[in-house]
Amino acid sequence: SYSLIANPVTNDNGVQGAVIVLLDVTEKEENERLRREFTANVSHELKTPLTSISGYAEIMKDGLVKSADVPRFANNIYTEAQRLITLVEDILKLSKLDENAVELGRADTDLYAVAQEVACRLKIPAQQNSIVISVQGSSAFVTGVPYILDEMLYNLADNAVKYNRPGGRVVISTGTEGGHAYMQVSDTGIGIPAADRERVFERFYRVDKSRSKQIGGTGLGLSIVKHGAMFHHARVSLESEPNKGTTVRVTF
Ligand code: ADP
Repeated sequence: SYSLIANPVTNDNGVQGAVIVLLDVTEKEENERLRREFTANVSHELKTPLTSISGYAEIMKDGLVKSADVPRFANNIYTEAQRLITLVEDILKLSKLDENAVELGRADTDLYAVAQEVACRLKIPAQQNSIVISVQGSSAFVTGVPYILDEMLYNLADNAVKYNRPGGRVVISTGTEGGHAYMQVSDTGIGIPAADRERVFERFYRVDKSRSKQIGGTGLGLSIVKHGAMFHHARVSLESEPNKGTTVRVTF
């Protein structure tokens, strides 16, 4: 859609005319729509754990919980509070990327070193689910913001562990192809149905709501990857086959 600004003018010789300016506001409107949708989603996502916390606390406050059940109730409150913390952290990360407000300096960063650090952090959660995580490839240097690159790769590898199967594998690889550095995560997990492949990068979009809730997560991980890639002028590609696995690559 367009907005029209028409401005009648008369020059020194008395010749009349008009200056017409056409502004393409499609993108602006789309951004506005996304912003409204995001606010609505955020409110909903924050309200759900808060309502649970408030409910559990109210029952405990009124002395309606048998003492044997107190640890379970306290644990539920703790879990919901942790969920809120993760959610708020993810929302803050996204809004920083959105506003291009990342003031941290860029630095020559070796993606291979980032991959090793991410694999190390995920070793224990992977082991707990009988999943083997490994790093392959070679050094690949990118001039970028190290903590965003780390966050992006962590989110991809964390998904590869979460949406995997016992006995499955996760391979993080980095390298250069055609002069471009890349980082990639492959898994042997549940895969993503074709109809959802574009949408998983949307904020709060989750393929299977009930299953995802059980697994844990905010639905913001892949949006952070997408926005991090945009920030670094990188491209994200996703290949997936249901019940076989998923590969996501970020090419710089
Ligand atoms: P979260 O993992 O917190 O739900 P993400 O934005 O990281 O949010 O992912 C969005 C959805 O995409 C997930 O809920 C899941 O359904 C799907 N998904 C992401 N990565 C994978 C993967 N490697 N294998 C299968 N499904 C995935």
